Amino acid sequence: MKLDLNNWNGRVLVCAHCDDELLNCSSILQGSLVVIVTNGDLGRPIDCNMSVEEYAKERLAESTRVAARYDVAHLVLLEYSEVELNAGNPKILEKINNLLEYCNPETIYIHHWNSQHPGHKVLGQWALNNWADKYFTLYFCDQHHAPKENPVIGVSLGDEQWKKKLENILSFHTQSNWLPQHVMTNVGHFKEEGFWR
Ligand SMILES: [Zn+2]
Repeated sequence: MKLDLNNWNGRVLVCAHCDDELLNCSSILQGSLVVIVTNGDLGRPIDCNMSVEEYAKERLAESTRVAARYDVAHLVLLEYSEVELNAGNPKILEKINNLLEYCNPETIYIHHWNSQHPGHKVLGQWALNNWADKYFTLYFCDQHHAPKENPVIGVSLGDEQWKKKLENILSFHTQSNWLPQHVMTNVGHFKEEGFWR
């Protein structure tokens, strides 16, 4: 694997789906290496006029555009089917392990092990079981999980940051059947980004 890590800040964000990087981590996207594990194929609405392949391609393109707007150092698209991640396919864990060994990060941000989303939960559990005492620092973040404890790091987005985040959320046209409404009914939640240890 060839990665250009010249402008990299040492952070890796591991996300299950296209849009998780923005929903959970907009405040730390700049300069980070972002890994998106799946192609988001299961998110396809039933009335979608694109094939599964076209839909997945479009989701990856949406995240690629968001990554450019946020000056992400590098975007890695692993393009696994969501079914494989939800089932905890060990090949995916091996792939992520190889990537981490290759780039040697200082900090990793990943979904919470208690997330209500099955794909998120798999990643959080892997992190907890495999990487808790590795060389890097682990943080957990997830909009599908609301821990009772206060986050170790809490970020309140300023007006400009929120405006940019919202504009980019609305640019995920493949998710327009639910995402804008979900975000607008939970605005406070998306304006505050929390990172737990
Ligand atoms: Zn997700």
